[in-house]
Amino acid sequence: MLFSETVYSENQLITHPILETASVTLHIKREDQLHEHVSGNKFRKLKYNLIEAKASGYATILTFGGAFSNHIAATAAAGKLMGFQTIGVIRGEELGVQLVKTLSENDTLHFANKQGMQFKFMDRTTYRSKDTKEVLQELVKEFGNFYLIPEGGTNDLAVKGCEEILTDQDGMYDVICCPVGTGGTISGIINGATLDQEVIGFPALKGDFLSGEIEKYTSRTSWKLITDYHFGGYGKINLELIEFINMFYKEQKISLDPIYTAKMLFGIFDLVEKGIFKKNTRILAVHTGGVQGIAGMNKKLMKKKLPLITI
Ligand SMILES: *Cc1c(COP(=O)(O)O)cnc(C)c1O
Repeated sequence: MLFSETVYSENQLITHPILETASVTLHIKREDQLHEHVSGNKFRKLKYNLIEAKASGYATILTFGGAFSNHIAATAAAGKLMGFQTIGVIRGEELGVQLVKTLSENDTLHFANKQGMQFKFMDRTTYRSKDTKEVLQELVKEFGNFYLIPEGGTNDLAVKGCEEILTDQDGMYDVICCPVGTGGTISGIINGATLDQEVIGFPALKGDFLSGEIEKYTSRTSWKLITDYHFGGYGKINLELIEFINMFYKEQKISLDPIYTAKMLFGIFDLVEKGIFKKNTRILAVHTGGVQGIAGMNKKLMKKKLPLITI
């Protein structure tokens, strides 16, 4: 069974002249390798939610996401493996007008559909009020009873799952780094860290609401967010980041997802180069997965005549 035992990922040592010059060590926690289809932090965030849904007798999982969402892909795959019906409410009514065309062009939705996920394409205005009673009641009318997982998958049970990312041995690191979207993953990591570790989050989007979100799930204070590496906002990337991803793949043979993990690692290398970390600092950076999104990103890059991400 998918979640029947607690699984851990491996830490991989990264060697690079920039790290050597600064006398710091960097390991990457390969959460991207946890599962072929339910990768990274989405595996952690879904675990206790799907266990709870099963125990409470639900047959259907409903959740929300954009057309390239890792959360949608992961929910479809995990739901199938756990024997649930899954419904994905997708932002953008227009995508549903020519569904065959949408599915042929969008790798994420194509994959989710193959896992048996049923879609509801929602116009952007309604989507913005998806958490209101009115919209939820409409969804219940349409689909019957379901277990609801919010967009991005963050709730108490998701944070509980992310508390299993760090192992006892990971207590040897001084600093834990992770990318931040809604803040659920970093909250679990903060709760799972030792009292003398510092957790540094790298938001992949603009905005100053994230600290408040994290404070909902943790009372610890040994963490901070570094907000300089969002590259213009959620899903935005530039030539410099593409070149970093391709360089990293060539040198380390690790694919980085452009939305989250690449921005964090770019930030870590930049901070190391700037001498922010003390000599002998041991850094553990969590690769949260999301590699499924590279194909969709490459289609956008092709349209913009930018170089592609090599996988
Ligand atoms: C969803 C996601 C994140 C963000 O996680 P949050 O818990 O929302 O902060 C980070 N990395 C990857 C690869 C993701 O898919």
